[in-house]
Amino acid sequence: MLTGRFPSPLSSDRVRPDVAVVGAGPIGLAIAWRCAARGLRVVVHDPAPGSGASAVAAGMLSPVAEAYFGERQLTALLLASAARWPAFAAELTETTGVEIGYRTEGTLMVGLTGDDLAEARRLWAYQQGLGLPVTPLRPSELRDREPALAPRVRGGALAPTDHQVDPRLLVPALRTAARRAGVVLVPQPVRQLSDVDAGVTVVAAGCGAAALTGLPVRPVKGQILRLRASDGVAPGFRHVIRGYADGEHVYLVPRAGGEVVLGATVEERSDTTVTAGAVQRLLRAGVDLLPELAEYDLVEAVAGLRPGTPDNAPILGPLPDRPDVLAATGHHRHGIVLTPITADLIADLVLGGVPDPLLTPLRADRFRPAGAAVGGPELTMEGSPWS
Ligand SMILES: Cc1cc2nc3c(=O)[nH]c(=O)nc-3n(C[C@H](O)[C@H](O)[C@H](O)COP(=O)(O)OP(=O)(O)OC[C@H]3O[C@@H](n4cnc5c(N)ncnc54)[C@H](O)[C@@H]3O)c2cc1C
Repeated sequence: MLTGRFPSPLSSDRVRPDVAVVGAGPIGLAIAWRCAARGLRVVVHDPAPGSGASAVAAGMLSPVAEAYFGERQLTALLLASAARWPAFAAELTETTGVEIGYRTEGTLMVGLTGDDLAEARRLWAYQQGLGLPVTPLRPSELRDREPALAPRVRGGALAPTDHQVDPRLLVPALRTAARRAGVVLVPQPVRQLSDVDAGVTVVAAGCGAAALTGLPVRPVKGQILRLRASDGVAPGFRHVIRGYADGEHVYLVPRAGGEVVLGATVEERSDTTVTAGAVQRLLRAGVDLLPELAEYDLVEAVAGLRPGTPDNAPILGPLPDRPDVLAATGHHRHGIVLTPITADLIADLVLGGVPDPLLTPLRADRFRPAGAAVGGPELTMEGSPWS
């Protein structure tokens, strides 16, 4: 119970902020916006706002297509956040006047070969078993929806409620909304938590949270490409397409402005170099699914670092030994879809002091040190409801 530990919005202290947020990615900015809109004095520390994982992210809001085996509770959280996206997007656009590329055409999941389709169908059956909206389509139905798909594509399914947003529009919009609500940006890094003086500190620094808190957040590298039709016309497909192509898992996200985002690798590494092999694999799979891409310009090849956790779920709540420091990190592959619910839950916690029950399985102390080991304490999944 956190009631009483946090400052009142009516505090007479004019200098000390009520809330200091470390990190101006989508998570930190959305939390800052929500807190400031409810009357708190908020500062955000970041030397390079929006330069983390969100700078490269595809922006898929895919709780259904990303409902994976063994992650039922995470799926429930993703669904709950995705349900908040329409209102969140509308409010953000209304507040800032900025369109954020929120699109609702839905997601097509496809398999190129018989083997690919067999693998995909197993997952679709699992997703349908959870009661999620996944509609298998015959090849002819698939092509009616997306004529640009390669004739070789063997089959697919529609996830109509999986949408998309453009993170490169989202983050500046959140920055504008936060600024208009009174949030002050301090363009400096936070080297240690003791440098921050505020009623509550929220660590929303993505991969940077590990060094500040000791929490088990690790970088998971993702290489991703951006292509554009050389004549500047919009892509010849409207849905987000997630495909299995000769064993390679890729997604293709069409943007209204003509861009196609093609991603992404998942690598247990912390560098951001782009490798020829990864580019080759992504392009081969992408062109196999949508042959028209071969004619596109390759305009960008980048890598970003997802803030991963041992159980793939975010860490939201007070540090075990610092009730005045809240973690809001570890969003891994889902930080864009989880932005609305994270912001609401953390703002409610800061304002009300009482954690929402949704936060219980996300608490920071679910990873318990199992004993000293070389290089730091060994972490166990014991007790984690996500395992
Ligand atoms: C290739 C790729 C594709 C992705 N696609 C999707 C997708 O389709 N859908 C989805 O939901 N998610 C996707 N993600 C994941 C998503 O980008 C992340 O989960 C999300 O960006 C996490 O947001 P964040 O604000 O916590 O961290 P980040 O976006 O990483 O931002 C962290 C911020 O903290 C700042 N910072 C770090 N350390 C400090 C410090 N010490 N002091 C001050 N500031 C600091 C950084 O400068 C940065 O601005 C993708 C990620 C990658 C890499």
